[in-house]
Amino acid sequence: MAPACEHVKEIKKVKPGARGCEECLRMGDSWVHLRMCLTCGHVGCCDSSKNKHATKHFHAVHHPIMQSIEPGEDWRWCYVDEMEV
Ligand SMILES: [Zn+2]
Ligand SMILES: [Zn+2]
Ligand SMILES: [Zn+2]
Repeated sequence: MAPACEHVKEIKKVKPGARGCEECLRMGDSWVHLRMCLTCGHVGCCDSSKNKHATKHFHAVHHPIMQSIEPGEDWRWCYVDEMEV
């Protein structure tokens, strides 16, 4: 059995901080899919996007879990455990 992710306990009730990837909007760039950080509400682009801001956010501030905010998607991913949670 795989060990459970401890980070789900740290999830906060957050609202998306932006309508699109915050960094891409600032740069005037585009993205493929959006992911929201469940610690601070940061919105970043997914790993299929060229800038990968959601992953960069994790490396910058170590917030462990993000959630897809694509319509019809609600899965969450823990970067630390590298698993769906
Ligand atoms: Zn975890
Ligand atoms: Zn981006
Ligand atoms: Zn965050």
